[in-house]
This record gives sequence, structure tokens and C-alpha cells, in this order.
Amino acid sequence: MHVISRSLGKLAVDMQKPQHTLMRERQCPSVNHWAPQKRKTQWKIMASLDWGYDGNNGPEQWSKLYPIADGNNQSPIDIKTSETKHDASLKPISVSYNPSTAKNIINVGHSFHVNFEDHDNRSVLKDGPLSESYRLCQFHFHWGSTDDHGSEHTVNGVKYSGELHLVHWNSSKYSSCVEASSKADGLAIIGVLMKVGPANPKLQKVLDAVNAVKTKGKQAPFTNFDPATLLPSSLDYWTYTGSLTHPPLHESVTWIICKENISVSSEQLAQFRSLLSNTEGDSPVPVKKNNRPTQPLKGRTVRASF
Ligand SMILES: [Zn+2]
Repeated sequence: MHVISRSLGKLAVDMQKPQHTLMRERQCPSVNHWAPQKRKTQWKIMASLDWGYDGNNGPEQWSKLYPIADGNNQSPIDIKTSETKHDASLKPISVSYNPSTAKNIINVGHSFHVNFEDHDNRSVLKDGPLSESYRLCQFHFHWGSTDDHGSEHTVNGVKYSGELHLVHWNSSKYSSCVEASSKADGLAIIGVLMKVGPANPKLQKVLDAVNAVKTKGKQAPFTNFDPATLLPSSLDYWTYTGSLTHPPLHESVTWIICKENISVSSEQLAQFRSLLSNTEGDSPVPVKKNNRPTQPLKGRTVRASF
């Protein structure tokens, strides 16, 4: 997932600064085994490009700057349904979203975020595997370069064409999404797999708004929207403890992955890919993909509510 809501704006901006990235790496003890010369070279490469989804700054390289990429609780994962454990104690999830909290849409370079006002409890997620109340701060999507992949989570090895992430933070314990985003019980993200097929009319308002924020850094108002309309009819879910799916990759997420998928058409997927990662006036560079490959489960249990 991405975490850049209004409240996470500073974190996001910091992550895009090569100087900051360089400092972060220098402070990181786990890269000390590198020979100095090699380390210097790696700094140069990653510092100049920062992280992305391609080539020498892609997911395979993230651990050089963010060692937690090789941690024990990383996301996404492949959900092997035969290995999931039904847990009768899991409650249904309870989502209560107020359309008035929808605020704006922002192009963050590798994706776009739809942000929500989160200074009160108008839009919250409760129950399910959660013992506290989590406020909605943003939603965003992941997609692939072609229709046959693009989701982050997979089910029995099956890749879907995209994935919706609704990001919530623990407002019972923390005072902001930024503060919560690095805490073990800080975030709860609902993931919804998107299967290529008929056009999904519920997505269209979002996709139309993307046209207003084509280039990196652009933002536009996005108001009066109920993200519950994007959810599937059944809220049966799998849940496990994991991480943000891109740097800084904090292991701070209670994942709630809906069993039922939603539809997206090939034309709508093309609209996602029409987002640009360049700033206005520069040569157009489309965001062809922004999905991290699945990570090892490392002994974690995936529980099923159904
Ligand atoms: Zn995401």
C-alpha cells in the first residue's frame, strides 16, 4: 500500500528526497557488511533514483535502503486457501463511511491517492479482527502493465488485474496517520482484488478525477464520495499481520482482504495506466505498474472469517 494522505504528506515528500534517503541509509546498520566501495555505488544508484517499480530501483532493490523489506511480516502475500484457518471468533467488519469526509485526489508519482478528512470519527472501520477503532485516511489502487496481473495479494497463486487499498489508522491509540504508520497496531487496510471483466460503474468517478491530476504533484478536490460503494457485496475476509507494500515497508498493518472481488474493465485498467509519474511539462512517463510481488509468509497464519 501507499501511505500518503494529507497527514502523511511530509513523510511522502521526505521519501522522495535523495538526500534524506542517503541519510536514512547511512544510519542503517544492516548495510554495514557491504564493502565501502560497493556501498558507495549503491548509494549513488538508489539515491539518484530513489525507489520505484522498475529495474535498478524496483522491489528487488528496496532492501538496500529499507532492510525491513526482508523482514518477517512483509506484504503482500499469496493466500493459500487450504492453509488458511477459519476463526469463529472473528467478527464481521463494520465500516461506517461518511461521504462528507472525502477531500481530494493527489498524484503521488507512483500512484494517486484519494484522501479523507480524518480529524474525527466520521469514517471508521471497526470489529473484524480489530479491537480498536480505525479512521479512514485514504484509498488507492495497484495495477500491472497488462490485464493478466496487477494485484498485490494473490489467491492460490492467481493474480488479479488490480487491487484497491482502503487505509485506516488506529485513532484509539495514536493521534495521526503518520504516528500510527510505524506502530505494530497502527494501520488496518482493507484490500479488494479487482478482476478484469465488465466495466465497474462505481470506479468511474475516481477514474474521471484522475484526468485532473495526470502529472506528479497535482491535486484536485474530490468530495462527497462513499468508498463503501467500492466494496464487494460480501465482506467475508482473510486477515493476517503484514506491512506497507512499498517503502518504508513498516510492519504496521492488519490486513483485511475481501474474499469476493470486484470488476474492472480492460478500458478502466488502461485509464489507471494513463497516470503519469513525471511533473507537468516534462516528457510523459506513464505509471505502467505499481504492484509489489508476493513475499514469504514466514510462519504467519492467515485467518478466515468464513
Ligand atoms: Zn497499497
